[in-house]
Amino acid sequence: MQDNTSPFGKKLTRIQYIQYALDKPGVLTVLPGIRGKHDLIDILKYTTATPEEKDYSIIGNFTPVDAEGKCVYCNHCEPCPAGLDIGLINKYYDLAVLGDNLAKDHYMNLEKKAGDCIACGHCNSRCPFKVDQVDRMKMIRDYFGE
Ligand code: SF4
Ligand code: SF4
Repeated sequence: MQDNTSPFGKKLTRIQYIQYALDKPGVLTVLPGIRGKHDLIDILKYTTATPEEKDYSIIGNFTPVDAEGKCVYCNHCEPCPAGLDIGLINKYYDLAVLGDNLAKDHYMNLEKKAGDCIACGHCNSRCPFKVDQVDRMKMIRDYFGE
């Protein structure tokens, strides 16, 4: 994708694009287009990429204002001192609200849930999308009951 065709006005790396797609609700796999051996070698770099190389939170710097406040499950706000997987909790919540019972089951099986949030605010200060996660964790806890 070129800078001028990207929805964000700038392009991410292929590794970041793959991670971004995999983090979307309901996405289990990504099948990139392959034009030849060069593309294949390039895409397979994802399998050995570091967490830093997969981190696409830079899009928080160039997302439109109306995208602010929406969790994209990137986990850039980690680590959580209470041990919550913030991105996954938000993903299961968003899916459950859409009627995905499997996501609800997955949430109920998490060891740490929104109810374990101690409202320390660390994630709020780290989130590039300006998500009020302290508030969201309360909402998620109320929705699931724990
Ligand atoms: S709260 Fe922000 S940093 Fe944390 S997972 Fe959501 S979008 Fe990413
Ligand atoms: S506010 Fe809650 S979810 Fe965020 S880092 Fe603190 S304990 Fe974790």
